[in-house]
Amino acid sequence: MRRMLGGLLVVVCALALTAGDADAKPRKHRHGKKAVASRVIANKGYNPIAWSRTDGPAQGAAQAIGGYAAGCLSGGMALPGEGTGYQVIRLSRQRNYGHPALVEFLRGFGQKVATAGLGTALIGDMSQARGGPMSFGHASHQIGLDADVWLRLDLPPMGRAAREHLEEIKYVDYDDRRVTGDWSAKQAEMIRIAASDPRVSRIFVSPAIKRELCVREWKSRDWLGKLRPWHGHDGHMHVRLSCPPGSPQCEEQRERPDGDGCDDDLQGWLRRAVPVTETPPERARPRNPHLPSACQAVLRSGGTRIAAAPATKVGATTID
Ligand SMILES: [Zn+2]
Repeated sequence: MRRMLGGLLVVVCALALTAGDADAKPRKHRHGKKAVASRVIANKGYNPIAWSRTDGPAQGAAQAIGGYAAGCLSGGMALPGEGTGYQVIRLSRQRNYGHPALVEFLRGFGQKVATAGLGTALIGDMSQARGGPMSFGHASHQIGLDADVWLRLDLPPMGRAAREHLEEIKYVDYDDRRVTGDWSAKQAEMIRIAASDPRVSRIFVSPAIKRELCVREWKSRDWLGKLRPWHGHDGHMHVRLSCPPGSPQCEEQRERPDGDGCDDDLQGWLRRAVPVTETPPERARPRNPHLPSACQAVLRSGGTRIAAAPATKVGATTID
């Protein structure tokens, strides 16, 4: 049994570290076998794309449940498609949902972007209405606490249809591993605004972007440690909030290393920096991580159009 549980945990970790949203590795379980067992249940028996086909948020108290790359969201809410200082792109994806803490953060972030005169922020994928694994595009974004924010700030407020097919500007030149000529102080300031918010635990950016921010003079450098180098993330930043109060099942990531992170570790990332090609949705393979048992109620709660599969046994735990 122990060997099997260990195997499952390895699968969870491997999924957490694949494509796009790394540093999503779940915190090590401190309570040994018991803590691991509570995670073992799952998405098994469900169609892995069920989470993208629900009828809106699961009602009940707002709770982020599980890990960033293996969890779900109860009591989520939609970020309105547009507001002061921001507009949501690709609303047809139905990924503009999050824990109320994320929605509140993004609205406040938009206001700060507007006040600073930076332009209009473009908000990309957050989570699905009930969180959970996505059918394409992200390993994490599963518990309503992650949001992608594009770095381009040159577009005015526009209609929703026009926001469906925008081009992401890539700000990294991979030949010299530096930011391109399109980069400006506006991108830097927008990232600083997000990272300075105490609710934000990490922001994933390309190593070249992190270096650009490291070499600037700043009044305070406290926020720089929140910027985590990761491949891709050269046209957007991925903002991750810490587990909010009232979500006892939310699994915080391991603590960030001390310091601003402008060190040897960053140099290593820079040496390995290569462009990332995204798998087109039609070729993507849906992820199917093992989710906390509470997620089955979230998926099945009122209004979902998805019929649950019959109970399936996963190890000693029955999913029903
Ligand atoms: Zn992301």
